[in-house]
Amino acid sequence: MIKIKRLAYRDLRHVIGDPATSKGRKKIKNELVTVKLPYTFYNWSKKKKKHIPVNYIRCHKSIAESVIDALAEILNNYGIDKIKKFGLNRECGGSYNHRKTRDGKWWSVHAWGAAVDLWCHMGRYGKKPIIPNEIVQIFKKRGFYWGGDFKYPDGMHFSRVFG
Ligand SMILES: [Zn+2]
Repeated sequence: MIKIKRLAYRDLRHVIGDPATSKGRKKIKNELVTVKLPYTFYNWSKKKKKHIPVNYIRCHKSIAESVIDALAEILNNYGIDKIKKFGLNRECGGSYNHRKTRDGKWWSVHAWGAAVDLWCHMGRYGKKPIIPNEIVQIFKKRGFYWGGDFKYPDGMHFSRVFG
């Protein structure tokens, strides 16, 4: 299993870069990697009225291997048929996104690509998540914090940043 030091939220802007400045944004982008998912996700497109395949995520290099490793374990444990049956190949929300938190007060961990949103249909913001606990544990044992544990649940959200 891959062990990479977890980062504290307060350190992100110093260690990686400040998303508020163009220089910082450049530094952040330099540390992003695009990695292939172990299996294809399908995201519903309201505009196109069909499912769009998602095969890659762009995230910070500190989480890339752990995310891929966790999804590979899910594929290995369940197989693609069960993954499809339980909707575990649906709605990948992705990682890097230059944005603030929903209240607009802070930069989202997504602004550094240090979090990934998965299975958005089972972990809507503010709703009780229905992502199976076994799946959550596969991420937790790799050092991820789960948004489903937050006071205001964000079940799709997996991050390796604390504080
Ligand atoms: Zn998120």
